[in-house]
Amino acid sequence: MSTIYESLGTQSASFIRGTHRLLIGGHWVDAQSGKTFDVFDPGTGEVVARVAEGDAVDVDLAVRAARRAFETGDWAKMKPADRTRVMFRLADLIEQHGDELAEIEAVDNGKPLAVAKRGIAGTAEMLRYMAGWATKLNGESVNVSVPGEWHAYTTREPVGVVGQIIPWNFPLSMAIWKIAPALATGCTVVLKPAEQTPLNALRLGQIIQEAGIPDGVVNVVTGFGAMAGAALAAHPDVDKIAFTGSTETGKRIVQAALGNLKKVSLELGGKSPVFVFPDADLDLATTGAANAIFFNSGQVCSAGSRLFVHRKVFDRVIEGVVEHGDTLKVGHGLAPGSQIGPLISSQQMQRVSAYIRQGEEEGARRMNRQSAPDNGGYFVRPTVFIDTSTSMSIYREEIFGPVVCAMPFDDEDLEAIAAEANNSEFGLFAGIWTQNLGVAHKLARRIKAGSVSVNAHMVNEPALPFGGYKQSGWGRERGREVLDLYTSVKSIAINLD
Ligand code: NAP
Ligand code: MG
Repeated sequence: MSTIYESLGTQSASFIRGTHRLLIGGHWVDAQSGKTFDVFDPGTGEVVARVAEGDAVDVDLAVRAARRAFETGDWAKMKPADRTRVMFRLADLIEQHGDELAEIEAVDNGKPLAVAKRGIAGTAEMLRYMAGWATKLNGESVNVSVPGEWHAYTTREPVGVVGQIIPWNFPLSMAIWKIAPALATGCTVVLKPAEQTPLNALRLGQIIQEAGIPDGVVNVVTGFGAMAGAALAAHPDVDKIAFTGSTETGKRIVQAALGNLKKVSLELGGKSPVFVFPDADLDLATTGAANAIFFNSGQVCSAGSRLFVHRKVFDRVIEGVVEHGDTLKVGHGLAPGSQIGPLISSQQMQRVSAYIRQGEEEGARRMNRQSAPDNGGYFVRPTVFIDTSTSMSIYREEIFGPVVCAMPFDDEDLEAIAAEANNSEFGLFAGIWTQNLGVAHKLARRIKAGSVSVNAHMVNEPALPFGGYKQSGWGRERGREVLDLYTSVKSIAINLD
């Protein structure tokens, strides 16, 4: 074992080394098949744990447990204020275990400890925000025009048993983004974490029990997408499936959901544009554009992977972004001072490296001078391409690595600029850097994306809805809007005559 693990606290070290079972109906159980699979530390390539390999049989048991908890358990019937209190307790516990959870995240996902800690603070806030909605899920009284005297009203009811499938880029945050609205609305959950990062979903399962959330309300089935994930998406007794991940897998989820027409929400890929206008605060814009793509090694669905800079300031901004990338300290998540970690797997490293080679072959110019550390981890250094064109694969496809495709613009015609922003099958996010309010508002209005940030990149705010236009997904997570995904509206009309 690498000596890097000597810096782990006793709690995270003993958790990682422990036996990892599935959480079904409040019990920790082996997969029915008895199978397990390896969990790798992407910073070293070493196997750090083994977890249960759940498949369709285990998913079925978990769905039954979630159904029992939903129909006969206390959760859906609990007073909303009590659900709020339990969720607050869960948020407090997550903060109390923050160091431990951050260490697990650094080993399981590779992100630097400091970044993981900030993420954990964000997940606690997400839980508290959603907890507040539990007491505000009201219907309305409705004035009707049919003859006679009526009392008509609507109610909002929990949608039922929800399957949730999440990716590996933000393991704990993604779990909480999914679980929080389900808990607030009184649904029950079967969660399938990504095969690469199952550990914090399992630790969260323990903390959920500690918080007093009743058995069966949250079930965690680790396993592979093609087995456990597909079984969950197809299960006839799952009322809704919520998925975050690639657009390709999202389409499979939709097909699998057809059997019982379960509700589907999808948070998928992106190829998000960032625009830097010449009147922007260029220092802030340069750092912002660099963070937009290098943060989390570019493994972010809303990463700013297409950078458009006005020709007047192109050289200066690009030089700054390259410099920023070249000076970032790339290293193991637990290594002191690491600013960006490895990619999640050797497969992702190969995939991203293949895109970089392809970009060069297609004639784009790679600006960075540094190369990645060679210590067995899955590292790729920040990469900036110029001399790019809109037909290149690095311009069109989601790379999911620290690779940005830069292009100058010298057109002040906002329609043309917006058309280029919208020249993508995706529509998740866009960033605009300008001091000109008119430009900011007009461009924001014209861009076909679920979120736009001006003079910032991404606002990690639970109150702001998040999701995609076009092939970036269906539905909005976060904000009030997510509650629509987890509730069904019932209208009730009473003839008073
Ligand atoms: P993925 O296949 O979309 O995986 C996301 C989740 O879906 C994982 O839990 C996965 O399980 C599960 N899954 C896979 N196939 C499934 C199926 N047929 N039915 C149900 N669930 C299934 O993503 P990936 O394979 O990890 O990464 C591939 C590419 O997707 C990346 O290079 C990146 O471009 C993109 N991606 C995007 C996001 C995003 O947030 N937009 C996140 C992650 C990846 P397994 O872990 O076992 O595969
Ligand atoms: Mg996969």
